[in-house]
Amino acid sequence: MDILSDDGTQVGERLKSWQEMYDRPRFEQEVNAEDVEITRIISNYDMGEKGRCGLSICKTPHYKGYLVLCKRKQGSILPIETNIGHVCGKNIFGHSFEEHEKAYRRDINTLRFRELITDHICKLTEYEEKLQHLKKEYGGVTAYAFIRNFIENYELKASELTKLRRRAMTGQSEIVHVQKASEAEIEMEEVRLGRELDDKERDRLTTSTTLGYIAGVKAVNDYTKIKSELVDELPVLFKDLEPVEPELLTYPQLEVWSKRLNGLEARFNDVVTIIDDCKRFSQPDNIDFIKKHSSLL
Ligand SMILES: [Zn+2]
Repeated sequence: MDILSDDGTQVGERLKSWQEMYDRPRFEQEVNAEDVEITRIISNYDMGEKGRCGLSICKTPHYKGYLVLCKRKQGSILPIETNIGHVCGKNIFGHSFEEHEKAYRRDINTLRFRELITDHICKLTEYEEKLQHLKKEYGGVTAYAFIRNFIENYELKASELTKLRRRAMTGQSEIVHVQKASEAEIEMEEVRLGRELDDKERDRLTTSTTLGYIAGVKAVNDYTKIKSELVDELPVLFKDLEPVEPELLTYPQLEVWSKRLNGLEARFNDVVTIIDDCKRFSQPDNIDFIKKHSSLL
């Protein structure tokens, strides 16, 4: 985990091993809890092997805990560091330790959120260009319009469209032709079973043939996302982000912004996938195939 600076306003290197922790200049492997006051938690750890708790009355081996900055109640004014297991911190220091845990999480989050927001502000021009590119050159608007027309122009019957939508949900793209077995097939089945089939069994005996696959079938449902993302939501997000100054945001504002920006790359990628599906769906031979076999949807 990243290590906070003493004042909690910056993150430094990461803590990777017990040895690295023991090698820190201010670190003390055995501290009497009575002699110190915790200033703040500066890191948390979850090591692959157990290490001892730094409190002299505890020393319990554990995987998870915190690196804490302390000041001595007497003697040297130089701060020290030690480590405290995540369970015993609460047991020994009580409520105040929980407050330190909260403060640590908040400090780390503040830094991460600010970094995330700053990073996105720096890339704003790039994002806006990407948006325009997806709409125009990449064919997002055309792809959206095609599928919308296909649905709204009743190129399929309402019941067929419902079935196509159901396929879009499950991704079931195969069109199968099911037909009653021929006399020759019935005969073969009778030979296989070594007896005659009754009428019910004859009716139930069918053969199915795969006629083909609908390309980009998911587009039938997903196409609306092209508009909601590229026209409605992302432009508003970018417009709102432009004047933001991460240093001036309060903690709740930082939280809101980090939620809004999280997964932006994935949203772009999703839109690309959907546009690709729409393009494949729109191919003339695919549309012909669907119309020709619409009764089998
Ligand atoms: Zn302990």
